[in-house]
Amino acid sequence: MRADSPSPAGSSSPADAARLLRLANAVARRAMEAGHHPFGAILVAPDGHTVLMEQGNVNTVNHAESVLAREAASRYEPAFLWGCTLVTTVEPCAMCAGTQYWAHIGRLVYGMSEARLLALTGNHSENPTLDLPCREVFDRGQKPMQVVGPVPEVEEEIAALHRDFWRRP
Ligand SMILES: [Zn+2]
Repeated sequence: MRADSPSPAGSSSPADAARLLRLANAVARRAMEAGHHPFGAILVAPDGHTVLMEQGNVNTVNHAESVLAREAASRYEPAFLWGCTLVTTVEPCAMCAGTQYWAHIGRLVYGMSEARLLALTGNHSENPTLDLPCREVFDRGQKPMQVVGPVPEVEEEIAALHRDFWRRP
């Protein structure tokens, strides 16, 4: 985020971030129970509380965040989305960060870093993690995207879901 540009609206209190991340993690758990990878994302309105959309992982090329961002861009105006927050359990990959950028969703909250995910999944064939921090992706853009994460208060809960999943037989 660039300090000399106006920030998107929305609350950034740690308690709010943790509450929203727990909602996203419930979406991730439901995705896992439905046979997908345990990733979940929600779109939160500019008021910082109202959940507008939720999306779990679909498959390897349809990640929760990019599916949600594309759908959000078809439902809402860019000016409205700029004040919204995309809340996701794990730091978005380069594809998803790029999709969020183009969808003009101004704020991101993530629970666990991509580097931490990589440490948990190892060289798992279903998750060849693209290790490029989302802040690096956003920093190449022309908009002051606001990023909060990782959030230590919920990182363990999110990590636990992945630990169980990637070690399954
Ligand atoms: Zn992704």
